[in-house]
Amino acid sequence: MRSYRDDGLVLRHYNLGEADRIIVLFTRRHGLVRAVAKGVRRQRSRFGARLEPFTISDIELYPGRNLATITDVHTIETFNENIVSNYERYTAAMALLEATERLVGEEGVSQPALFDLTVGAIGALAAGQRQPQQMLDTFLLRAMGEAGWAPELSKCAVCGAAGPHHFFHPAAGGMVCSQHRPPGSAGMMGGVSEYLQALRDANWATADALGQNQKIGKRLQKEAHRLIVAHLQWHTERKITALSFADEAERSR
Ligand SMILES: [Zn+2]
Repeated sequence: MRSYRDDGLVLRHYNLGEADRIIVLFTRRHGLVRAVAKGVRRQRSRFGARLEPFTISDIELYPGRNLATITDVHTIETFNENIVSNYERYTAAMALLEATERLVGEEGVSQPALFDLTVGAIGALAAGQRQPQQMLDTFLLRAMGEAGWAPELSKCAVCGAAGPHHFFHPAAGGMVCSQHRPPGSAGMMGGVSEYLQALRDANWATADALGQNQKIGKRLQKEAHRLIVAHLQWHTERKITALSFADEAERSR
């Protein structure tokens, strides 16, 4: 087996033994890679802080049967400082990384479009251009589109009748009309499908006009997020625990 290099974003890490750490990487050309960073927790590790989350690096990996081994790391860009210094950004970014790991799924499958989308979203979060919750929701909508199961937002997902409609069910594929809503559908308040479309399209003027409406803005944002998470969770069939922390941070704002 030969070593290889790839650009990688650290999704998370956990300790192994006394001094090592397993790093879960999302790489541009090799998809999800789990790798050991030997001695990384020692004070004078040659890796230093280069394998922290929210960092994009050029990484040399030696493949193994279960785990690769990291043999060299050069930082390309780190967003760590700008993210961890702000609780709301941090919780949104953690949820983003956790969702990414679920969305990438299998190890070793290259998904360059999702990789670029993820790196772009982390960078935008770190830059603080938009509300972290909006950035997270925009990313999730686009990433679900990349995965091939974007929620239908403009017409009934069953019959195709033009919307807006007032019900939503992940199993049906998104927004549904009153005739085709499956049992257990969530209600959609007025404006939420337009708000979701604006987020997906990064149409900030419309998203802001709807989301900053004093009467309904907060509820609209909350409901939009709830529908996105329901859709994501139904499709990944796993609860994304970091998302509940992001919700917590949003509530305490
Ligand atoms: Zn219908």
